[in-house]
Amino acid sequence: MSSSSKNTLLHVASVAFGAFILFGAVATSSWVQQAGEEELQKSLKSALDNAHQGVLQMYRSHQSPALVLANDERVRNVVQRLLKVQRTRAALLAAPEQNLLRTMFAPYANVVGYEGFFIIAKDGVSLASMRDVNIGGENLLVSQGEYLKQIWAGKSLMSQPIKSDVPLTDRHGHIINGLATMFTSTPIQDEVGATIAVLAIRISPDDSFAPIFSRARFGESGETYAVNAAGVMLSESRFNDHLSQSGLLDDPHHADLMLEVRDPGVDLTQGKTPVLKRENQPLTKMAREISARRSGIDLNGYRDYRGVSVVGAWVWDDQLGYGIATEINATEAFEEHWRTTVTIYAATVLLLITMVGLWWLAMAVRKEVELSAMLAEQAQKAAEKGKSEANLANQAKSEFLSSMSHELRTPLNAITGFAQLLEYANPPLTAHQLEQVRDIRKGGDHLLSLINDILDLSKIEAGKLDISIEPVTVDEVVQQCIDMIEPQTDKYEITLDNRINLDDVEVMSDHLRLRQCLLNLMSNAVKYNRPGGRVTLAAEKVEGHWLRVLVSDNGIGISDKHKGKMFEAFNRLGAEASGVEGTGIGLSLTRTLIEKMGGRIGFTSVEGEGSTFWLDMPLVRSSRPQAAEKQSVDLFSPRHDASEPVERAGVAGGAERLVLYVEDNLANIRIVRGILCTLSHYKLITAQNAEDGIELARKASPDLILMDGTLPNMSGNEAVRRLKACSDTKDIPVIGLSANAMEKDQENAMDAGCSAYLTKPIDIEQFIATVQQTLRA
Ligand code: ADP
Repeated sequence: MSSSSKNTLLHVASVAFGAFILFGAVATSSWVQQAGEEELQKSLKSALDNAHQGVLQMYRSHQSPALVLANDERVRNVVQRLLKVQRTRAALLAAPEQNLLRTMFAPYANVVGYEGFFIIAKDGVSLASMRDVNIGGENLLVSQGEYLKQIWAGKSLMSQPIKSDVPLTDRHGHIINGLATMFTSTPIQDEVGATIAVLAIRISPDDSFAPIFSRARFGESGETYAVNAAGVMLSESRFNDHLSQSGLLDDPHHADLMLEVRDPGVDLTQGKTPVLKRENQPLTKMAREISARRSGIDLNGYRDYRGVSVVGAWVWDDQLGYGIATEINATEAFEEHWRTTVTIYAATVLLLITMVGLWWLAMAVRKEVELSAMLAEQAQKAAEKGKSEANLANQAKSEFLSSMSHELRTPLNAITGFAQLLEYANPPLTAHQLEQVRDIRKGGDHLLSLINDILDLSKIEAGKLDISIEPVTVDEVVQQCIDMIEPQTDKYEITLDNRINLDDVEVMSDHLRLRQCLLNLMSNAVKYNRPGGRVTLAAEKVEGHWLRVLVSDNGIGISDKHKGKMFEAFNRLGAEASGVEGTGIGLSLTRTLIEKMGGRIGFTSVEGEGSTFWLDMPLVRSSRPQAAEKQSVDLFSPRHDASEPVERAGVAGGAERLVLYVEDNLANIRIVRGILCTLSHYKLITAQNAEDGIELARKASPDLILMDGTLPNMSGNEAVRRLKACSDTKDIPVIGLSANAMEKDQENAMDAGCSAYLTKPIDIEQFIATVQQTLRA
């Protein structure tokens, strides 16, 4: 999947998850609301039910004393007699039955706390009472309509609270006109069960009615009260004080029968003034329902008689003849719900913010990862590019080294070649001339060794170093090195002290490479010495199977800070400023060569006092018989005194050998001619380009062809391929003779068909041996 489609998918998933969380929050909140409403409904109904049951219970409890009194035979007899008294106030007051009845009621007043009683005749006249003022007149219960009729019909019932017709003392001890009062009434029947009068006992609502509603209050604002069909409050309000402050109540202690349950249209508790007068205000929703004699519940909210938004439940009771309502401020009712909802939404918002944060973080991390991946990719590309550039650079370096080597070897061939020829000139050179010629040759040799060092280093870097391990006589190598170093010791005025005397002791090594290494150490000991200084050569056996060759000097020594960097290639450790010639590769090359030959190298040094470098090479245990070819080696040894007659190796007693040399450089031709002249029975013919060489080879059928590598128009290798392809010339051996000294050059020449390959400058000893060997083959 592409990165952009991954991003789109991630975005869609994030939005979907966000929507899911929002949906979850809404669903949870609505569930909480529903559960809250159910809970609220239960609370309202329970408060309402408690009050309703409380009222019914109170009614029942007050019926008993009334029934007991009404069914008391003495009461009945007295009432029967009183019914016969004239219906005037004076007559009734004067009747002895009046006092009798008052005496009979007294215990109820004292013990149960009833405030008084009425005996009401069929015509509604009060026949008897605790107070004189009511007697002989129409009883106030007559105005209650159906109530008395039901009693006359035989029921025992409690009246609603009604305004008292006499001033009464309230619970605060105040005597108040029109205070609410209640009656429990029961018929007084004669012997055959006919109702002859009604006994009505006055009850104070403060004592038994009001507490029921007080107990049904809940929370901070929940209240329960009774309301009649006209919308008048029958019980006390919880908020009498507020109502009084708002001007709805004259007396802050009494709301019952003093307050119509109307909706002021504004919240009076907020100090607002209603637009309509009280009497013009509509009943509250609950009061309207009660007046319609309906029970119900409203959780949506409506304004109560204070104008406060409430939720409520109400019940209409036909038997009571009024309703009971329970209400609570909507804010309080839904407070828990709001709190939960706010918590849910706050948590949701937090969750969403966290999610957005995480999403943002994920995006940032993703970008970071993508950036890192991109950078890694770029770095990899750069590394690959760098690698291929490095490869190209290596290739270019190899090509450069190869061509440099070729260009230097060609003139070097002339220098060392003629110097060697001059050493064997006839007539011989004088001793002085010979010495000078040897110096020329040594200089050439040194130059050649420099070129070889650089080539070696590049070969080592390319992993193509050519080494052949064989027993090497140490004395011989040491002596060769001493001979080669002499011009340098003379130049730097150094005394060379050779304490090595090993006879035929041999070590396993590559002769040339070992010499190269030892020479390098000796050369350094001379170079980094002081005028008049000393270089000492010594040898010792180490650990039984190593031969250690030590090269010591009493020169400048090596500082401690440089000791760890001695074998770093191209690091001259400050010597470049001293004017001493050098390339900084000698020690690096020496260590690599020694280790490749299975040896070890090390040094000790004290700055200002001198250094000792040592080489360890594995010893050869058995002595090696001297090879016959050794003679020819000695022949051209620098130790050989040229003034002595020299036995030349040649083709003993054989026929003359014809050698064709294809070469465009005349100096090279002269050198080869000179070498062959020193031998018997060799005749040299030459061609200066490949085409002439091939032609001459066909015509003259030489015994041997020497082929230069770089010829005009056609390369030496191509010429060899053509010679080998031609039946006339295919059997003539060819020796490649070229200034191209790279390994690959030799391989190419051999592939083209050469029998051997020699590099310039020509090593005469090697040249003669190769020529003779090729002709013998
Ligand atoms: P070069 O001699 O061409 O500079 P080498 O690799 O042979 O390079 O030596 C590296 C460096 O080590 C020298 O440049 C020189 O500073 C230091 N060195 C080598 N041999 C000696 C020695 N015998 N005494 C003091 N310093 C030496």
